[in-house]
Amino acid sequence: MLGGTIEARQLAGALARRTDVDVTLSLAGRTAHPAAQPVPVRTGGFGGDDGLAGYLGDERIDLLIDATHPYAARISANAVRAARRTGVRLLALRRPPWRPVAGDRWIAVADIEEAVRALEPVPRRVFLALGRKEIGAFTQAPQHRYLIRSVDPVETKLAVPHASYLVDRGPFSESEERALLAAHDIEFVVAKNSGGTASYGKIAAARALGASVVLLDRPLLPAVEAVETVDAAIRWLDHLFASDGDLGV
Ligand code: NAP
Repeated sequence: MLGGTIEARQLAGALARRTDVDVTLSLAGRTAHPAAQPVPVRTGGFGGDDGLAGYLGDERIDLLIDATHPYAARISANAVRAARRTGVRLLALRRPPWRPVAGDRWIAVADIEEAVRALEPVPRRVFLALGRKEIGAFTQAPQHRYLIRSVDPVETKLAVPHASYLVDRGPFSESEERALLAAHDIEFVVAKNSGGTASYGKIAAARALGASVVLLDRPLLPAVEAVETVDAAIRWLDHLFASDGDLGV
């Protein structure tokens, strides 16, 4: 299972209790202290789709589950190519995106550069709920005050006069997020449309406080057999294991 998400950890936990499947979870290795996992873990890139295909063959993998983050488009594309090349069955576990509800003030943007422009020329107070590697573009808008939260400390600080940093790991509740946004008088939240509940708190908090949310469009992912929830993934696996030797097991 390609992981890095809460759903991957939950699915791994459910599968760890079963005797009909041996699961290895693969993590990109982005965080210095990853959360504990209920199954054996391997860490780091495979070396592209070739490397992943080689791994699937070497480890005699029967089934590949892509439970990566919806913005991790490269590994998802590699999973499709590697599965095709090796004949290994592939299932994607993909959270549906959040949809706006009454009171949301969302600004959809295609990429980070557009997100920077969406903040307007006048100085604003901005919460960047993005990965450490994605914040660099905001140096192009040094007039704003930034609050930046990340799982690991930001090594290269943003070259702007006003930026404060928070190191913390979710999930965060709506009330925690509301307290944070209110304490910093946040007017704009910049975020990905991750879907799921774990990071929705900031979206609900922004709505409650009348703040705008600049939401990065999701990348296009390859069309593959997919489910949206951990329960649906378990049902899919039950069906597969009960019904056949499609996997060759
Ligand atoms: P990516 O652009 O799809 O992947 C880049 C490379 O990282 C892949 O080509 C692969 O290297 C390696 N990789 C990614 N996931 C892996 C996994 N589960 N196991 C082994 N190798 C993996 O994804 P990203 O750079 O990690 O992140 C892109 C976006 O997703 C960012 O916006 C990030 O904030 C968000 N995100 C990612 C994760 C995550 O766990 N990856 C979690 C939360 C959010 P090789 O080509 O060498 O195999």
